[in-house]
Parts: sequence; C-alpha cells; structure tokens
Amino acid sequence: MSGGVPQLLAGKRAVVTGGANPRGIGAAIVRLFIEHGAAVAVLDRDYPDNDAGGPRGGGPVTLHCDVSNGASCEAAMARAQDALGGIDVLVNNAGIVAATRIWDLPEDEFRRMVDVNLTGTYNVTRVALPALLASDRKPAIVNLGSTAALRGGGLLGGSHYAASKGGVISFTKALARELGPRGVRANCVAPGIIETDMTLGKFGENWETELKQGIPLQRFGSPAEVAQAILFLASDLSSYSTGIVVDVNGGFHIH
Ligand code: NDP
Repeated sequence: MSGGVPQLLAGKRAVVTGGANPRGIGAAIVRLFIEHGAAVAVLDRDYPDNDAGGPRGGGPVTLHCDVSNGASCEAAMARAQDALGGIDVLVNNAGIVAATRIWDLPEDEFRRMVDVNLTGTYNVTRVALPALLASDRKPAIVNLGSTAALRGGGLLGGSHYAASKGGVISFTKALARELGPRGVRANCVAPGIIETDMTLGKFGENWETELKQGIPLQRFGSPAEVAQAILFLASDLSSYSTGIVVDVNGGFHIH
C-alpha cells in the first residue's frame, strides 16, 4: 500500500513501448505502473540513442527503439533487462495510424503499417520472451489492439490499420495458447476513440459531435482509462484471464 492505494504491480519489472509522447496512452500506462510500484523501462523511437542508466528519481528508464527493426529491439531489450534486472510485464503499445482508403493505398504504406503495428509487436515480444519465461513473478503480456480491428476501420484508421490491429489480436490469442502452459499470460486491450494526438482535432467539429452522440457514454475516452484496463491485465488481479480482448470504448462497439 502507498498512501492507502493498493500497489498492484509492487515488485514487477515492466517494459512499455511507445511511451515517449506525454499526451499518449503509453505515457499514461507508465505513470500508472510507477504509481502501482513497478520499475519501468520505456522503449520509443523518439528517445535519443542512449545507455540505460537505471531509473532516475523514481522515473522510468528510457531507451531508443524502433519496434519495426528487430536489431533495434534486441539492443533496447538487452539494456532494459540490465537496468531492471528482469522483465515480468510487457506492454506492446507503440503504433501508428493512417486513414488512407484502399483506392489510394500504396504498397509501401500498407507494409509500413504492418511493420510497425504487427511485426513490431512480434519483434518486441520475441526479444522479451526469454526474460518473461524466466520470471517467477507471474509474467504477463498486454498488447494494444483497436476497435478498428473489430468494426472494420472506417474512422481514422484505414484497412491497413484495421488489418494490422486484427493481426495483433490474433497474435495475442495464439500467444496465450502457446505460452499459458509455460506460465505467461497474454491479453489485449481494444480502445475505441481515445483523446490523444492520434485523434484530437482530427474529426472536425460536426463529425466529432455526431460520433459522441453515437457512443452510449457520450464522450471519447482518456489515455488514463485505457491504462487502467492495462493495469488490470498486467497485474495479478487478472490471474485467470488469458487470450481475452478487453474493450475500452464507452459502448461505441458492443458485440
Ligand atoms: P501516440 O502517437 O500518442 O503514441 C504512440 C507512440 O508510439 C508515439 O510515441 C510514437 O512515436 C511511438 N511509435 C510509433 N512508431 C514507433 C516505432 N516504429 N518504434 C517505436 N515507437 C514508435 O498514439 P496513442 O497513444 O493514441 O496510441 C497508442 C496505442 O494505442 C497505439 O498502438 C494505437 O494504435 C492504439 N490505439 C489508440 C487509439 C486512440 O484513439 N488514440 C484507439 C485504438 C488503439 P512518434 O510520436 O514518433 O510516432
């Protein structure tokens, strides 16, 4: 307990990708994880190339990593593991979005989307796996899917975004099946429309009003609300859940 709040990740060592943007979901995850007692390393392409110096002033270790590049992931994960002394939680949050519709969608843009969102999730998981398998602290993987994967894109994400996130969901389910017998859980969060740089100001006033009216909770979500679902899946509170997809969408897509 810290200040009366239960520390759901006390003693856990967590790696979170894509946490450099202070207004993003990744940064909200990092803040909440630290509040709940985790030691955290953040991997993001926005950080300069650096050596992990260990957590400074209670903050996270920050490491440069391009998740679409296997060698970059390997180098960053080795440093993360050195700095944290092991890995018990992995959150694959780094991602990109684009609304390009299929009739305008060039092959290189389709490939880039899959490289970052889907291959990136594989790349980071692959290099974190030996540490996760060695963990004796109930290890867990949490991946970021999207409502776009479940409803067929159609908003700020085109078919390539929807397909990449659908791939992440299927990948997570297969990880759950393969890794469950070896003690590692794997789950997914599927956020709806969340107020980050990915979405803010992107719809225009009229469309935004119309969209909010169509959401049962009548508003967009906050990064902190996604982080709370991820905290549940990363912590032992969800100890009997694996291979699930948790919707965080205000009722926007009920299925
Ligand atoms: P942000 O763009 O704020 O954060 C994503 C972070 O990932 C950024 O720091 C970004 O860096 C980083 N990143 C992008 N590509 C790479 C890469 N190749 N290697 C390492 N880091 C990279 O987005 P959100 O916080 O909104 O999104 C976080 C996750 O949630 C994403 O996976 C997204 O698809 C998912 N999501 C978001 C929704 C929303 O409504 N916001 C809805 C559904 C899912 P840079 O700034 O340089 O791009």
